[in-house]
Amino acid sequence: MGLYRTDAIVLGHRNIGEADRVMTLFSPEKGKISAVARGVRRLNNRLLGGTQLFTFSNFLIMENRNLDSISQCEIKESFHKIRANLERMAYGLYFAEMLRASTPEEDKNHALFNFFLKTLYFLQEWDDLELLSRIYEIKLMAIQGYSPEISRCASCGKKLTEKMRFSSRLGGAICFRCFKDDASAVDISCETVKVLQGFIKKPYRELINLDLQEEIKKQLKNACQPFIFHHLDRRLKTLEFIDDINSLKA
Ligand SMILES: [Zn+2]
Repeated sequence: MGLYRTDAIVLGHRNIGEADRVMTLFSPEKGKISAVARGVRRLNNRLLGGTQLFTFSNFLIMENRNLDSISQCEIKESFHKIRANLERMAYGLYFAEMLRASTPEEDKNHALFNFFLKTLYFLQEWDDLELLSRIYEIKLMAIQGYSPEISRCASCGKKLTEKMRFSSRLGGAICFRCFKDDASAVDISCETVKVLQGFIKKPYRELINLDLQEEIKKQLKNACQPFIFHHLDRRLKTLEFIDDINSLKA
């Protein structure tokens, strides 16, 4: 037991006791960790700034037998623009929940950390947050080793033609010969598959001004979300929050 220092992003927290909070942090060296911030809910507490949701801070953490505790923290990037906007906040919570659900405790992964940090920078500025969500969903799955098969049929391995569907259960696009293997597969066009390939290969900055037709956006949503829920084996709670906000906007 001792002290250690690490950079980390605040993924979430829950209140315990009178003034404490158990933080879920995501660090490049240690992966997902839990640590308590004591007294953080008191006014002017020195840990308050650096432990806000999505804040990227440097933490000094004391190891304990049960739960580690945060001794100090220093803000590196506050990401206040995310917290200042309800819609950005809702998507941030969704991204964080997806990350938590797909990552085991204390599993270090520098590539995943850098990807999530980059996503937060773009979440502050991006206009079409639904589009950012689709890109994030598919990039996250690819980094976690679950890229969808979209270069050939995910079921029989043969070349794909114009007539294809997307099957979450079979792990990607399927050819018309294999439609019978998954009745729940959804429509997807060659164009949408090309867009998906771009999401995996291209960096965010090359995708930020992408202007897609409504039909492609619809197909992407119908394909990406069930694909993720299939791999995570659950639906995500934060998605309801996003649906509520979107229906208010509509
Ligand atoms: Zn096939």
